[in-house]
Amino acid sequence: MDFQKVEEIIRKRRINLPSPPALAMRLLELVKSEDYQKLAETIRLDPALAARVLGLANSPLYRSGPKEITSLETAISLLGTDVIKNLALSFAVARNFPHKGQTPSGFDLEKFWKRAVSNAVSARLLAQKGALEDDHLFTAGLLLDIGVLLLYLLLEEDYLRVFDEKEISDRPLWEIERDLFGFTHAEAGAYFLRSWHLPEHIVEDVHYHHRWEKAPEEFREHARLLHLASLLSGIYFSEKKSEKYDRALKEIPELLGFSEQETIKLIDRVATECQNIFAFFDLPDEGVPPYSELLEEAYEELEKLSLNCALILRQLKEEKKRTEELARRLKAANERFRLLSILDGLTELYNHRYFQERLKEEFERARRYRHAISLIMLDIDYFKRINDSYGHLAGDFILKELARLIRQNIRKSDIPARYGGEEFAIILPETDLKGASILGERLRERVEKEPFHFEEHRITVTISLGVASYFPAANSKGPRDLLEAADKALYYSKTHGRNRLTAVIVN
Ligand code: GH3
Ligand code: MG
Ligand code: MG
Repeated sequence: MDFQKVEEIIRKRRINLPSPPALAMRLLELVKSEDYQKLAETIRLDPALAARVLGLANSPLYRSGPKEITSLETAISLLGTDVIKNLALSFAVARNFPHKGQTPSGFDLEKFWKRAVSNAVSARLLAQKGALEDDHLFTAGLLLDIGVLLLYLLLEEDYLRVFDEKEISDRPLWEIERDLFGFTHAEAGAYFLRSWHLPEHIVEDVHYHHRWEKAPEEFREHARLLHLASLLSGIYFSEKKSEKYDRALKEIPELLGFSEQETIKLIDRVATECQNIFAFFDLPDEGVPPYSELLEEAYEELEKLSLNCALILRQLKEEKKRTEELARRLKAANERFRLLSILDGLTELYNHRYFQERLKEEFERARRYRHAISLIMLDIDYFKRINDSYGHLAGDFILKELARLIRQNIRKSDIPARYGGEEFAIILPETDLKGASILGERLRERVEKEPFHFEEHRITVTISLGVASYFPAANSKGPRDLLEAADKALYYSKTHGRNRLTAVIVN
């Protein structure tokens, strides 16, 4: 293994690597000499270490039977020396590093160790499930990223640039490290563990955990398993939990042949086991909710959200309906208002103002398209007398009834108006003198022949009419001329016997 670059930077910066703790050295020697009796004694001599080893041996991660393991001897006989020596070694190495809280420059030590423990737990679970009962994987898992902590302790803020860069670029940590320093935390960690004389297979597992495909054949299986362990712990302790989850669900079945269901169970078990084991490593044992619970919560939130969406949608729809109804009513009100402004209140024929406007328009249209246009003016004969004899209400009644009669007898395109008191005007677009006279005459006859019935009275009424027609020949005439001509014709009818119609051509 080429650790030249790691050494170079250590030399250049005059950094002193932490020296191995005496206890770890001693444990390692005993492991090498295979003197397990002494190993147990040595552990027992360090009460804190003994307590941790026993505690862990009793955790569900290790304990297989129902009986509590109370002595190291039992632990060794039940779990094997391999397990005990690796647990002891894990503690001996880990406790030489700071564990608590955050450093002043912002390195979260607690999070680092939680992830380390979850690496170890994941490695152990994967090994168990894959029937790889080699317990140095727990130790390797725990020390997998020790290079990160070490590089931080050596380079301090210089190393934190790696995290900043990671946040910005989203590249893998080791790639950024290689760019910035020329080597990765995996290499630095391996270098350091070797300098502490840790077993070579642990050193190599750490070395290759990011590039397991490149590991020498003999280490590849373990490096691959540690890579997956790191993926599993990433589900709980990395920034990109769901991405790690998706990758774990893909890679674990692919590389280890577990089913998806088994993988999901395994992912949850990492959380429950971690919770048991944090305390042994002096970490707060606050719960890590299993991923499936997190997912369930997320789904519930999502469901609430979509419920809210449905509610909002419904409210929007109701709001829309209300708005549409309001718009409809507004439109109707506008239409009523428009009608009020153009209709005469009593007869509901058009009012004088509107009549004048329309007369101008229709006259212009007739001139432009060279169509005929006629105007009928009609006035009730001796209306004053009717008012005088039967009262104003009778007069009003007759005005309304006459309006109705007019409406019944004209075309849709004709424009009937109340011109003044008992005087009416009807604009007849596209109608010549003959047509207008026929209509006028019919109205006159009807009024004459059909008396109005008001209360007990039978009131006979006649009307006088003046009809004027214009066929555009010259441009010199205007709507006023038509109006004056009709008025004059009406005056003629009035002065020549009433109850008659006089027609004139305007040209
Ligand atoms: P003529 O045959 O010459 O038209 O005689 P007249 O009595 O009909 O004409 P005049 O212009 O002398 O009187 C019109 C009357 O119409 C006067 C007025 O009291 C009445 N009148 C006008 N507007 C209304 C109305 O809205 N309701 C009622 N009841 N009478 C009205
Ligand atoms: Mg009159
Ligand atoms: Mg009059």
